[in-house]
Amino acid sequence: MRRLFLLPALMFIMSCSSHIERIEVTELDYPPDLGIVHRAVWGWQPLQDVLPPHIIHYVTIHHGGEDFPADKDPVEYLRNLQAWSRTEKKWIDIPYHFMIDMNGTIYETRPINYPGDTNTEYDPTGHALVCVMGNYENQILSEKQLDAVVALTAYLVEHFGVSLENIKGHKDYAETLCPGKDLYRYLVDGTIVRRVKDRLGELPQ
Ligand SMILES: [Zn+2]
Repeated sequence: MRRLFLLPALMFIMSCSSHIERIEVTELDYPPDLGIVHRAVWGWQPLQDVLPPHIIHYVTIHHGGEDFPADKDPVEYLRNLQAWSRTEKKWIDIPYHFMIDMNGTIYETRPINYPGDTNTEYDPTGHALVCVMGNYENQILSEKQLDAVVALTAYLVEHFGVSLENIKGHKDYAETLCPGKDLYRYLVDGTIVRRVKDRLGELPQ
């Protein structure tokens, strides 16, 4: 007879534990010199929904695609982008995992364990998406911003064991101008990969 009582209790426990597993945020342990602004610091709102989790094999560079004036507040921009992504686009979060502002400060955005989103035709599953605020068809990438792209990419390559050939730009996968010519040129001429390599030393490939 006792088994009849145990069954509902067991089902209750199982439904609780599956709910807890549903939303998970992988927290990364960044080297302090990256100066990453953690989600909790800039006012990120917790996930309401998730996607099937993924494993990182690529680092893919983007730009925001909108001109970003020097006096615009990057934190306000992130909060608005998160709200817009969720309400207008019905995405689970900001489409990128990291965003870099005009001063080269790096912000954590979408949790890395969930794939990003895109308005274009490629599947971002397996990609760590790094986005520089601004429009580099029109704007000039600063040295500080380039340093931040290199430092963050090097960390992601090392942490996830990404192959150096898999460091690319959005336009390598889809019909788009992203990440804009003044950022893309550093992928085309090999600057980003070379500087990532220098930063990490000899990597087993
Ligand atoms: Zn893009």
